[in-house]
Amino acid sequence: MFTVKNLNAGYGSIQVLWDISFEVKDGEVVAILGSNGAGKTTTVRAITGMIHPTSGSEQFNGTELVGKSSRFILDKGIIQVPEGRQLFTNMTVYENLEMGAFSKAAKAKMKESEAFIYQWFPKLKERRGQVAGTLSGGEQQMVAVARALIGLPRLLILDEPSLGLAPNIVDEILEVAGHLAKEQGVSVILVEQDITKALAVADRGYVIENGRVVLSDTAYALSKNEHVKKAYLGI
Ligand code: ATP
Repeated sequence: MFTVKNLNAGYGSIQVLWDISFEVKDGEVVAILGSNGAGKTTTVRAITGMIHPTSGSEQFNGTELVGKSSRFILDKGIIQVPEGRQLFTNMTVYENLEMGAFSKAAKAKMKESEAFIYQWFPKLKERRGQVAGTLSGGEQQMVAVARALIGLPRLLILDEPSLGLAPNIVDEILEVAGHLAKEQGVSVILVEQDITKALAVADRGYVIENGRVVLSDTAYALSKNEHVKKAYLGI
């Protein structure tokens, strides 16, 4: 269980997040929705320890994360698939996957995890020895997700996975996130501008506007919400 309470954070003297609160239960996919500049990426940065909140709390299974290093947070199994993938483009698919096995447990399970990943992304098996920079955008996103999975996440954060990808590839990636939650009890935070797709896979969602949570509900209720429909779905 991941619980964020009254989180305030920003950059230097600029406050971006105001009293943000939300939670993600084990096995739950939670969408963080909002338009450009709403504060979604800043929320992710505050979770992964890239920025340090000025106040508030972030607890993962009872352990406080505010004030802790990125390494400490990573070691708790909180793993992000970064916006823009950030692969090692001169390295092969397999070498990129290996980079995800940073913990002893992940290293020990590398072979097993790899086999498991290829069940979901069979294309990566074919591309195992290929240099990552020569893959298509969709395949690169699969490698980025697969690399995160190799790290054995307990809380997986997907930041804008749909960016620049064909719809069928986005569906494939979101489906994997859903399986991971339902079959392995992994908590998933999905930051996504494609709100229709995000709500189709998420259990619940939070809408952030100007750095504040303005709505939270089940994904189904959000998809029927008049404000969400008008402001984000254009219907
Ligand atoms: P997008 O979907 O465009 O990535 P977002 O919801 O993720 O948007 P953030 O990137 O969290 O939004 O940005 C929220 C606010 O914080 C914006 O006003 C942005 O200008 C500001 N901001 C983001 N990064 C920095 C930074 N490094 N220094 C100062 N301000 C920043």
